[in-house]
Amino acid sequence: MTSELTVPHHEVNLPDHGVNLAGGPEILAIPGPSIMPDRVLAAMARQMTDIYVGDLVDISDEIGVGLSAVARTTAEPFIGICNGHGAWEMALANTLSRGDKVLVFDCGGFATGWGEMARFNGLDVEIIAAAPARAVDPAVVEAHLRADSSHQVKAVLMVHVDTGTSIRNDIAAMRTAIDAAGHPALFMVDCIASLGCERYEMDEWGVDVTVAASQKGLMTPPGLGFVWPSERALEAHLTANLRTSYWDWTSRQNRSAHYLRYCGTPPVSHLFALREALLMIADEGLENVWARHRVIASAVRAAVGAWVAPDGLELHAKFSREQANSVTSVLTGAVHAADIRRLCQEQMGVTLGIGLRDAAGRSFRIGHMGHVNAPGILGVLSAIDTALDVIDAPRSGSGAAAAAAVMAAAIAGE
Ligand SMILES: *Cc1c(COP(=O)(O)O)cnc(C)c1O
Repeated sequence: MTSELTVPHHEVNLPDHGVNLAGGPEILAIPGPSIMPDRVLAAMARQMTDIYVGDLVDISDEIGVGLSAVARTTAEPFIGICNGHGAWEMALANTLSRGDKVLVFDCGGFATGWGEMARFNGLDVEIIAAAPARAVDPAVVEAHLRADSSHQVKAVLMVHVDTGTSIRNDIAAMRTAIDAAGHPALFMVDCIASLGCERYEMDEWGVDVTVAASQKGLMTPPGLGFVWPSERALEAHLTANLRTSYWDWTSRQNRSAHYLRYCGTPPVSHLFALREALLMIADEGLENVWARHRVIASAVRAAVGAWVAPDGLELHAKFSREQANSVTSVLTGAVHAADIRRLCQEQMGVTLGIGLRDAAGRSFRIGHMGHVNAPGILGVLSAIDTALDVIDAPRSGSGAAAAAAVMAAAIAGE
């Protein structure tokens, strides 16, 4: 037991003699890595194959097409054998030069992490935080770029969805702001927590570099990072001096050798898995995938609405246009978040996400990204209802009932 779980800031009486109900499948409701579909896991359970010619080369091509369909771009992705942090680095290293000025607009900490990496790697980074629990304001982006009349800023970095606060930025509005300032900086967007969950339109929204990873909405185990460059980003690559041998796009673009695309042995099992996940998204239809996430997220927010009470729970992201559809951060007021998480996990087999940064210890997060459906999320919400009952937390109603009403209306086409 960690100290986090043993220091509640109010008196609770967690049961230690009651019946444990956690047997059966563990339900993972953290915002990544997310639940893997059985089809994806089964696709991985295959023997190794030739990595130079044959099926695997076709699969790499197929994956490139499938990934770009999900990111809504004609750009071809570079695929790194890495997590999201690796994809962050691949994006920076291929487009920027030592000392370049970079503006980072943060709304919860993840963009700051990317910015700190940029600083470590030799870039001149300024991090601009949004107002507490708010999305990045496009007017602030425009003002910063207008102030840079000599165009020292080479890149603007932000996330689409911040996984800590569950706040979503309006990426199209950011492009409008950058253009209004007449600024040529590359616009780089981390959509690790939104791709395959939320509408994301790389080309239509004018994003220059999109960064994503396999383990969230894309339903594939952690270990693959993706970077899509626009034409302008590929042009910047030609003079970038942060380039390193391993991440270098030029050598990875060499189509004469499949091996070079990955700068070494391809991630064979992950490629089989990702192909299956992309087939699942195509079978369901991307628009329906987005709609499913939107309804499930609305249901989760309705549940939190039913829990709201003085000194009790509330949504971290308060403005509907800024609420992500892949994750929901719930502030817990005077209720100790660790009690809720511990009861859910130890007594009911449901693992919720921990609160991050400023909200650590006073929030929990519900991941609803990728392979999630109505019964799965209703089960998670019911477990939280149950935990709130056990600790007699203040609340106004049943979260699961409120969520079911939202789902019923959506199914009925209302
Ligand atoms: C998960 C996540 C990351 C980090 O990804 P890792 O795979 O853990 O390196 C970065 N940005 C966002 C928005 C994320 O959700």
